[in-house]
Amino acid sequence: MTLNRRDFLKISGLGTVVTLSGCAAQSSTSSAPKARSHVVVVGAGFGGATCAKYLRKWGPNIDVTLIEPNDKFVSCPISNWVLAGMKTMDDITHGYDNLSKHGIKMVKDYVTGVDAAKRVVTTRGGASISYDRLVLAPGVEMLTDSVKGYNEAETAGKVVHAWKAGPQTALLRKQLEAMPDGGVFVMSVPTAPYRCPPGPYERASLVANYFKKAKPKSKIILLDGNPDIASKKGLFTWAWNTHYPGMIEYRPNNAPFAVDGAKMVVSTEFDNVKGDVLNVVPKQRAGEVCGLAGARNDSAGTWCTVNLATFESTTVPNVHILGDSVLSNLPKSGHMATNHAKVCAAAIVELLAGRQPDPIPVVANTCYSATSDTTAGYVANVFRYEAGKGYVTQPDGGATGTGDELNFAYAESWAQNIWADMLS
Ligand SMILES: Cc1cc2nc3c(=O)[nH]c(=O)nc-3n(C[C@H](O)[C@H](O)[C@H](O)COP(=O)(O)OP(=O)(O)OC[C@H]3O[C@@H](n4cnc5c(N)ncnc54)[C@H](O)[C@@H]3O)c2cc1C
Repeated sequence: MTLNRRDFLKISGLGTVVTLSGCAAQSSTSSAPKARSHVVVVGAGFGGATCAKYLRKWGPNIDVTLIEPNDKFVSCPISNWVLAGMKTMDDITHGYDNLSKHGIKMVKDYVTGVDAAKRVVTTRGGASISYDRLVLAPGVEMLTDSVKGYNEAETAGKVVHAWKAGPQTALLRKQLEAMPDGGVFVMSVPTAPYRCPPGPYERASLVANYFKKAKPKSKIILLDGNPDIASKKGLFTWAWNTHYPGMIEYRPNNAPFAVDGAKMVVSTEFDNVKGDVLNVVPKQRAGEVCGLAGARNDSAGTWCTVNLATFESTTVPNVHILGDSVLSNLPKSGHMATNHAKVCAAAIVELLAGRQPDPIPVVANTCYSATSDTTAGYVANVFRYEAGKGYVTQPDGGATGTGDELNFAYAESWAQNIWADMLS
C-alpha cells in the first residue's frame, strides 16, 4: 500500500511528516497544505531561474519570489568562446524580463541571512521575506584565500579566475589581446570537485586557437591540481595534439599555492612559473548563503548534502539546494543545475500539496566542449535515482573522442536552447 502525505496526516494526526517515499531518509516538519504557499528562490542562475519558472508552471497555487543581485544573467557556458574572440559579452548576457510573465516576483537584492527555524530570509537591502519552502541556488564561492597573494593580485588587476562569467571574463579577454606574440598564458585547474570539470581544458583549447591565429609564438602552461585531465581526456588530448602541437604544456599535480602579481609569478610545490597573463582558478565551495543557512554539511563543511529525490537539505528542513552547491556524483554543470531545478520544483509542488514526490526521478546531462573555433565534442548521460545508491548512470550515454563541426553547431544550439528554457 502506498500512503501519500495527506493520508499519513489523517491517520497519525501529527504535524510532523515523514516523507514516505522509499528513498527519503529525512523528516520534515510541515503544516497541512495551504490554499497558497510561498517559495523563495535565492539566485537566478541556471538552477534558480529554472526552478522558479517551473514552480510557477507546475504549481499555480505557489507564489514565487526570486532574489538575485544582478540585473542580467551572464552565462559561464560559452564564456570561454568570448575569451577566444569567437563570441562577445553581449552574446552571453541575457535579461530576466521574461520571468515576470510567469508570475515570478523578482527582487534585486542579495540574501545575507537565513533563519531556518522562523523560515525567513533577510537581505542586504534590509528586507525580511518569509517562506514555506526555500530554494538556495547560489552557485559556488571561490576560495581565493586558499592561494597566497591571490586577493592582492586580483585587486591590482594582475590575476583573475573568470570562473564566474562577467567583468573578469571581459578583463581576461583584454589581457589576452594585449599579450605580446611569444608571451606565456599561465592558467590553473583546481582539485576536484569544482564547477564544470571540462571547462579549464576547453579554455586552454580555445585560447590556444586564438594564439594560433593571432600570436602563434605564444604558449600556454596549464597547471592542474589533479593527477590527470579531469574530464573528456580523450577529446582534449586529441585536440591539443591535432590542432595545437607544442603550444600547451600540461603539468598534472601542480596546484598553485601562491601568486605574486608584482612579479607575475604563480608558485606550485615544484616551480615558480612566470607568465604574461595569469588565470588562477581557486578551489571552491557551496555558495555563501548555504553556509548562512547551516547547510554546508558534508564532512569538510564545504558542500551541501541533500535528499537527491527532492533536493531538500539532509539537515535543514524546508530548505532545498540546487546546482553547483550540491555534493553528489552528478557533474557540476549548468545543464545538470537545470535538471536539479526541475526535480526540485516537481517535488516542492507535491510536498506543498501534501502528496508524495516522485521517488525515482531521472536527470540528464549533456556537455559540449569546443576544441577550436569550428569543432566541438560532447558527453551525454542519463541518471536514475535509486534509494540507497543515489543517481545511477543508465546504460544509454555517449561521448566523442574527437571534435567535429556538427557538434560545434550543436554546442551553440544547446546554449541557445538552455538559455531559452531558463529565461523565456
Ligand atoms: C568557463 C565555464 C564554462 C562552462 N561551460 C559549461 C557548459 O558548456 N555546459 C554546462 O552545462 N555548464 C558549464 N559550466 C558550468 C555552469 O556555469 C555551472 O555549473 C552553473 O552556472 C551552475 O548553476 P547554479 O545555478 O548552481 O549557479 P549559477 O549559475 O552561478 O547561479 C548562481 C546565482 O546565484 C546568485 N547568488 C549567489 N549568492 C546569492 C545571494 N546570497 N543572494 C542572491 N543571489 C545570490 C548569483 O548572483 C548567481 O546569479 C561552465 C562553467 C564555467 C566557469
